[in-house]
Amino acid sequence: MNSTLIGTAREVFEHYPHLTVLEKLWKSWYDYMDNDVLATGLLFFLTHEIVYFGRCLPWMVIDRIPFFRRWKIQPTYIPSEKEQWECLKSVLRSHFLVEALPIWTFHPMCQKLGISVDVPFPSWTKMCLEFCLFFVLEDFWHYWAHRLFHYGPFYKYVHKQHHRYSAPFGLTAEYAHPIEVMSLGFGTIGFPIIYAYFTRNLHLFTITCWVCLRLFQAVDAHSGYDFPWSLHHFVPFWAGAEHHDLHHHYFIGNYASSFRWWDYTLDTEAGPEAKKQREQRWKEKEEKKLREQLLKEKLQ
Ligand SMILES: [Zn+2]
Ligand SMILES: [Zn+2]
Repeated sequence: MNSTLIGTAREVFEHYPHLTVLEKLWKSWYDYMDNDVLATGLLFFLTHEIVYFGRCLPWMVIDRIPFFRRWKIQPTYIPSEKEQWECLKSVLRSHFLVEALPIWTFHPMCQKLGISVDVPFPSWTKMCLEFCLFFVLEDFWHYWAHRLFHYGPFYKYVHKQHHRYSAPFGLTAEYAHPIEVMSLGFGTIGFPIIYAYFTRNLHLFTITCWVCLRLFQAVDAHSGYDFPWSLHHFVPFWAGAEHHDLHHHYFIGNYASSFRWWDYTLDTEAGPEAKKQREQRWKEKEEKKLREQLLKEKLQ
């Protein structure tokens, strides 16, 4: 095999014409590295860094352009350079100290669970169904774990760090205590592992794409902007930035990550509008109870 990545890629592209470009690139990477543990570890670490900071960058630019202020959810608050710099340093520290270590154990675990790294990839239909499943499960986990983190000592010693910014910006998505990073991270990585354990039919490329989608969701939810073209205007159960911004603003309610159904069903929606509606519902419930009681007394 060639000693450079480009040389290896050239050979793969020549010898495997039936593969797609992505599959050829994937194979080139694993062939070039010639060490699957290192290849998977580095792939995950680099993907995380590139996608996370790459997705934060447009939001940092948008923050500097006054034209976009009209869509800022909390328009009076624009993060200062100092705040962004402090946040960036903390997130980088967390990436290198907390997340960099477990990443290297990932490939041996993949082998045990039969998670494939071979080409060709599974069909896009199968992958999309798996993304949907992981989104739903992660959201479920995030809702309950996040709600628990708002309980007394858990909030005080762990989750408080994430709430330092009452008006979030992209970079704050992963600004959190290591315990929070690990426990909420389980929702992202843990469910694909459990799924692979039971089905024995999951590809590492699917997990990589899922992690990218989840990073996009988390950074966008912290962006602080609600555009007329934001996804939740077209998909009403999608949470988006508006949902999570209210959580940071009011500290309670809106605990879910991707969808609105848990907060809606369990009556934990945040913000004055949701509070008003909740109080109205309680009032109606109480009045109904009273009416039924009076009717019962009349009949006796
Ligand atoms: Zn919170
Ligand atoms: Zn947040």
